[in-house]
Formats: sequence, C-alpha cells, structure tokens
Amino acid sequence: MAQRFVIIGGGPAGNQAATTAARLGAQVTLIERDIVGGAAHLWDCIPSKAMIATGGAMTEMRRAVGMGLVAVQAEPDFEALRTRIAAIENRLESSVTGLLQSQGVRLIQGTGRLVGPHEVEATTVDGVTEVIPADVVVLATGSRPRIPVWAPVDGQRVLTTRDSYPPPTLPEHLVVVGSGVTGVEFVHMFSAFGSQVTLIVSRQQVLPQKDPEVAAVLEDDFIKRGVKLLKGARAEGIDVTDQTVSVRCDDGRVAHGSHVLLCIGSIPNSEGMGLAEVGIELDGGYVVVDHNCKSTVGHIYAAGDLSGKLPLSSVASMQGRKIAEHALGMHAGPHRHLDYDKAASAIFTDPEIADVGLAEADAFAVGRKVRVTKVPFSASAKALINDDPRGFVKIVSDPATGVVLGGSIVGQHAAELISVIALAVTAGLKVIDLAESILVHPALAEALCDAAE
Ligand SMILES: Cc1cc2nc3c(=O)[nH]c(=O)nc-3n(C[C@H](O)[C@H](O)[C@H](O)COP(=O)(O)OP(=O)(O)OC[C@H]3O[C@@H](n4cnc5c(N)ncnc54)[C@H](O)[C@@H]3O)c2cc1C
Repeated sequence: MAQRFVIIGGGPAGNQAATTAARLGAQVTLIERDIVGGAAHLWDCIPSKAMIATGGAMTEMRRAVGMGLVAVQAEPDFEALRTRIAAIENRLESSVTGLLQSQGVRLIQGTGRLVGPHEVEATTVDGVTEVIPADVVVLATGSRPRIPVWAPVDGQRVLTTRDSYPPPTLPEHLVVVGSGVTGVEFVHMFSAFGSQVTLIVSRQQVLPQKDPEVAAVLEDDFIKRGVKLLKGARAEGIDVTDQTVSVRCDDGRVAHGSHVLLCIGSIPNSEGMGLAEVGIELDGGYVVVDHNCKSTVGHIYAAGDLSGKLPLSSVASMQGRKIAEHALGMHAGPHRHLDYDKAASAIFTDPEIADVGLAEADAFAVGRKVRVTKVPFSASAKALINDDPRGFVKIVSDPATGVVLGGSIVGQHAAELISVIALAVTAGLKVIDLAESILVHPALAEALCDAAE
C-alpha cells in the first residue's frame, strides 16, 4: 500500500514535500488554512519583492539623467500596486494548486492539528472536521512576525511587515525597528518610494551577521539617501499621538516619525497543534529536528521556518523535498543530506547583496587559512554601461586545493549572479573552473571569472 503522507501547511516546505512525495508514489493530503503557496507568497517573499521591484523602477527613472535621458518623474500609486501584488499572488497560487492537483495531492482548506501520533485532524472553515490517518506527517506551518508586548500594533501607524503591502498611506517618516535582512529591505523599499526613514540598529553595524565590508556598502548607500541610523539603540516602547509615533530606546534616545514598522524577527506557528502531546520536543516553539528534519517522533518531520533552521523559502523547499525522499527510503540512493552552510541568500536592497558558503570574516574568526580574491564592479564594462559601478565580487577559496568555499557579491543583480558561486560551492568546483569558463561579454558575470583568477 502507498505510504500515506499528511502535510500541515502549504508554504514552500509543505508544497515541495507534497509534490515530491506524490511523484515518488505516496498518497498525499495537504492541509492549508490560507492560501497554497503559504506566507511566502501571501506575506513575505513575493509581496516584499514586488514592492521592491516597483520602488526599483522609480529609482531607475531617477537615474535617467545618468543614462543620457531627460529626467522623468514617477509617483507611487498604492492602489495600482495593491492590484499588481494581488495579480502576482493569484497567478502563483493557481500555478502551485494546479501542480499539486495534477500530481493527485488531496488539498483540504482548513486547519490541521495532531490528535494522535498517526492521526491528523483537519477542520475546514465551515467547521467540518475529519481525522486523516497518516504513516508520515510533515509539519510545515511556518512562522509569523514577532510582536513584543511594548508595541501597540494597529496596522495603520504601528505596522508589521504584513501591514505593509502597501500600508494605507505612504509613510511621511517611517521608523524601522530592526536592522536584519527584513529591516534593511524595508528601509530600502520605503526610501525608494520617497519616505523619510529612520532605522534603529541595536548593534554598531546594520546586518550584524554579515561581512562588515558588505554591510559598510549598504550603510553608505543609506546615508547617501538620507536614511538616519540610530546605532547601538534598542527600542523598548512606542507612543502614538494623532500626528506622530515616538519610539523610545533603552539609552534614552527617541525616534520620531509618522509610522513605525517592526522587523524584529518571527515566532513559530506551533501552538495548539497537539505537538507536545504526542511527544514532539520543542525548543522555543520550534520543532527540534535532526539532519533529516525528523522530529523526536520517528515518522513526524518538520520543515521550513517551523524547524528553526535557516528561515528562507529556498531552504524550506529543499527540506520538503529531502523529507519526502528520506521518508520514502531514498536515503541511501540519490538522497543527500541538506547542507545549510551551502545555501545561497540575498538581500534585495540597492545595491543587492548576496552570499553563499564560507564568509571571509567567519574564516578569520575560526583562524582558517583561506584565499580571498576581490574584484570591484568599477572594473566591469557592463557595470559602466549600466551606469552603476557600485560593489564588488569576493571569492573565498582553499589556498591548497583551489576549491571554492564561498563568496559575496554586492551590486546590481547580485541575487542572480551568486548562483554561479553557489553551484561552484555545491559541486566542489575550483577557482580554475570559474576562471576558465568563457562567459558572455559584456556581462556582470565576467567579474566572477576575474575574481576567480
Ligand atoms: C518580509 C519577509 C520577506 C521574506 N523574503 C524572502 C525572500 O525573498 N527569499 C526567501 O528565501 N525567504 C524570504 N523570507 C522567508 C520566507 O518567507 C520563509 O522562510 C518561508 O515562507 C518559510 O516557508 P514555510 O513553508 O516554512 O512556511 P510559510 O511560507 O510560512 O507557510 C506556512 C503555511 O502554513 C499554514 N498554516 C499554519 N498553521 C496551520 C495549521 N494549523 N493548519 C493548516 N495550515 C497552517 C499557513 O497558513 C501558511 O500558509 C521572507 C520573510 C519575511 C518575513
């Protein structure tokens, strides 16, 4: 008999687990309470990048003069932008739903919870309840924005990212709390639309987890755009009046604005799901998993943000795929463990920032000898043609073997270009393999070969 998979949550993790398991012959039921595609499509990756793309189009128009054009002006139209985002989301939802259905996955729109180790209860919006027997359960319920007790979120002036696609009106002055990836992307987004922005940075560097050289380029750009950085300050209270919001910080400083946006991380969607009751170990609400994404209960897996690993849509999808392969016995065959250290990631600011594998700063911190080569885009013909020579490509390799260990790119299209270094890192390619590739000219990717020489 086919293995019965029941998957709770239809984001990238749940979808990918469903399609892979169905393709490998399992009988699959997917329970999703909102839309198939998950928070990734509804609240996170897609609407944020759609907003950034629109802001980017405005920025390009401001750069018209540098391209030999007469200056052009564009104003944001939030109603049109809302329609545009909804159209993208609908299109993606129907393509994911179509794929799942074409593979015979049973979709239930409802809320799922465990009522026994092998029983999942689904409750639809109409209150209809069904208990579905499962040989394998995949928990993929994602996460949601963290809202501290001191933040009176109202969706109007005190916002989370979920209130920002776009907010009711363009903030005249936005105070962004949190300078991680999400925080800096929203700073970039709203300053491109024309808002004045203040960023509260709890440390002395934006993107505290990133290579300082990379973070410095972004800070430079923010300062040039007039973004005010409040460094070394932790927000601890918000006062809202008719006209202003004031964010109080622990060192006595106060940031004033018209709106405030919280970008201070997320919390897992694990409560009320019957997890602890069946013996699943949790840590801070995240499901504790091993290298196969297996929970402490053998046939129950967790993927995506709920697993407490790298909170990226791309990682969630790969976890979903690996779970299906592992649960269906492909462990010894084509299945390979997921290596989080080899996941590429990008920050969609201007310039874009992307990295993969070992960072120079991390190698330095552990005293590992590496070879670092760096090429600025100011030496790239294509960057000059595009009138944007900001940033650089950095490649980190093993000095003894030449194997590519990692890399960072700051500049136009960094999120696309990093794929080449990601492939090199995953496949164990050497710098010589990159250096001897004959690429298109003129192209930004040529900088990758130059950095590999
Ligand atoms: C603002 C923002 C921007 C981001 N941008 C990017 C990006 O550009 N690139 C990137 O790789 N990552 C990005 N991320 C991270 C990415 O969105 C997440 O890592 C990804 O969505 C995780 O996928 P998931 O499948 O675990 O969960 P989700 O996408 O959160 O999906 C979980 C699904 O489970 C459903 N669900 C929850 N509980 C239940 C239940 N009990 N029953 C039924 N259904 C349930 C939810 O409705 C949801 O649809 C961003 C995050 C944020 C906050």
